Amino acid sequence: MQTARRTHGFRESVIRGMTRLARQYHSINLAQGFPNFPAPEMLKEAAARAIHDDINQYAITWGAQRLREALARKYQAWYGLETDPEREITVTCGATEAMIATLLAVVNPGDEVIVFEPFYENYGPDTILADAMPVYVPLQPGHPLDLERLADAFSSRTRAIIVNTPSNPSGRVLSRAELEAIRDLCVRHDVLAVTDEIYEHIRFEGEHIPLASLAGMRDRTVTISGASKTFSVTGWRIGWIVAPAELTDAIRKVHDFLTVGAPAPLQEGVAAALDGLQPPFYEALAAAYRARRDLLFNALSGSGFICTPPQGAYYILSDFSALASLPRSGPPLSDTEFAVWLSREIGVTPVPGSSFFREGGGGSSLVRFVFCKTDDILEEAAQRLRSLSVISPGGFRNRASEPAIRSGLQQ
Ligand code: GLN
Repeated sequence: MQTARRTHGFRESVIRGMTRLARQYHSINLAQGFPNFPAPEMLKEAAARAIHDDINQYAITWGAQRLREALARKYQAWYGLETDPEREITVTCGATEAMIATLLAVVNPGDEVIVFEPFYENYGPDTILADAMPVYVPLQPGHPLDLERLADAFSSRTRAIIVNTPSNPSGRVLSRAELEAIRDLCVRHDVLAVTDEIYEHIRFEGEHIPLASLAGMRDRTVTISGASKTFSVTGWRIGWIVAPAELTDAIRKVHDFLTVGAPAPLQEGVAAALDGLQPPFYEALAAAYRARRDLLFNALSGSGFICTPPQGAYYILSDFSALASLPRSGPPLSDTEFAVWLSREIGVTPVPGSSFFREGGGGSSLVRFVFCKTDDILEEAAQRLRSLSVISPGGFRNRASEPAIRSGLQQ
């Protein structure tokens, strides 16, 4: 049977594929970015109550009123952004749906969309599904955005730029100066910014500045975020979009026909958390992630990986080419070979770096590790990674088996 050509342009998600591999090898899954710790009680209780109270039918297609109102209050309190919950906020099935619904609603076939590289792997297929042409600009861990390359990427065909800050996988938090430079180019070329701010509360350096809050950007920015990372509920699939009313009208139509709406009782849980959780919750979230970042970063750099501490989000992109235990004869291991080997032999599963670059675009000596895990898991991963710093003439060391911890490692 033939399949549609639009699906031929992209591969299966490597992130989700590595999660399957981690299960198969009973390896610590530091591939897919989901927390293994509990969500705040307040969310769970409110969602359970909503189910018991029979809030079990469709919510309003663009989101439960209570959630949209809670979001409007939050954007005002956090960033001074005025939003109309009736006309400018749409609740979606995760930020993932928000991104594809937005692109389908605002991009025409043949339009160009600027994407920073390395990029979260969905952005490539998203632009292809929208029949658009991605144009890549580098955004490397620990490096400022190259503003000249960025300026060169804008053309008369540019319709949108996707801006993900804090960024997955580079860990960059874009500065005000960098965001202002993006703003100036968007205004000059009449380009729309589509932001992915899902890690807005997971930051270790700098401040989170929504592009929409910069002068001149409110009317040309689609702001995307969600509950998954802030409230550790990646399986709930609650995301949202804040956009000017005219854009929201188009986005809501796409959203409606794609999914009808996000789960009604879970929207109540998120609304309760937005209203109920106070600043100390967000401070504690960032502080706990900083400690996890430091633990994993020290383990990786102590084992011989070359990496930079991320400024935000919960990923570390690491260069493995200088590891002492790699085989020293034969061709260098590719990122995929190394990731599979690390999963099978060392018992720690990362994502191959090339999945964050266009085909042939780089990442062949990189892998990405997540640190959204409890200390026991990260410490066990650190111990396993330490064996990589030991020179082993044949390379390919065998993993010691630790059956006791395995049960806690899957998922
Ligand atoms: N954003 C997370 C990551 O990059 C989860 C991706 C996913 O599988 N939805 O790992």
